[in-house]
This record gives sequence, structure tokens and C-alpha cells, in this order.
Amino acid sequence: MEWDRPLLSGEDPVRRLKRGNGQMRIAIQARDVRGPFLARVSELSGQNIYACYQCGKCAAGCPSISEMDILPSQILRLVQLGQEEEVLRSKAIWLCASCFACETRCPKGVDLAKIMEALRVMVLRKNVDKVNPLEIPRSILGELPQIALVSGFRKFTS
Ligand code: SF4
Ligand code: SF4
Repeated sequence: MEWDRPLLSGEDPVRRLKRGNGQMRIAIQARDVRGPFLARVSELSGQNIYACYQCGKCAAGCPSISEMDILPSQILRLVQLGQEEEVLRSKAIWLCASCFACETRCPKGVDLAKIMEALRVMVLRKNVDKVNPLEIPRSILGELPQIALVSGFRKFTS
């Protein structure tokens, strides 16, 4: 198994992650929990990250779930555990449609859409564009609704 194999040269044993059979294995360091990442997400989203008790109602009602690599509730759990790298490289934060279904279902009043937005902002503030407008084929540009292009650029470019 991946987590049983010998360490590769220079590999950090504490940071090694493993995913398989829908399960995620992470190694947690004390400095990550309650670290600057969690404080930044709280500040940007205005949400109490620790209010979530992992009931999963948000994920159960999410319309984008079939395309996500990490469930919305798992994203929140990873944020609680300070797993910045894992969260910011996930596909899920970009596939969130900001539909607010999760917020309406959450028994703890957590607005997960705002947390997803905060995570996207953190990536974009590193000047990382998720979409390059110049790479959109000219052949389809004329067919795309302007409102979709504008909202897409707002969401996916820094
Ligand atoms: S706001 Fe995002 S995470 Fe929440 S239900 Fe909608 S798509 Fe899913
Ligand atoms: S519905 Fe609310 S409390 Fe339940 S897992 Fe989602 S964010 Fe956490």
C-alpha cells in the first residue's frame, strides 16, 4: 500500500498523503491546526470554521458533487485541520457553483459557499489563473453568452 511503502529520498513523512477507495489519509502537524491558513479563511469568509460538526448535509445536497474530487464537507474538515496545500489544489473549490444549497441545509448556519469563495480568492491572489482567456477557441467564442464569459473571468482569473 502507498502509505506502507518506504519513504522516497527527501520525502517528508509527516506530509505524505494517501487517497484510495474514497478515503483520504492525511498526516496532521500541530502547527497547521489553528495556524495562519485557518485564520485567513475565517477572515475572508466571515465564517466560524469550527462550527461545522461534519454532518454531511451540505455534501448530500450539492449539485456539483459528482464532479468534485473532495466533498464540500471534507473541504471544510481539511480547512479545520489546516491542510492548505490539499485544499487549494483541489478541483472542488472551482466546481462549486455558489448555489447556496449547502448553506440552506446546514444545521449550524455555516455558509460553505463563502468559504469556497475565500479559498478561490486565496489561489487567485497568488496570480494563478484557472482559465486563460487567450486559450478559449475562437470558434466557440461567438457562441458563448457574454454573461457567462464575464462571470467566468471573474471567478477563474486573478
Ligand atoms: S454552494 Fe458550492 S458547495 Fe455549496 S451546494 Fe452549491 S455548489 Fe455545492
Ligand atoms: S452541513 Fe454544515 S455542519 Fe454539516 S458538514 Fe456541512 S458545513 Fe458542516
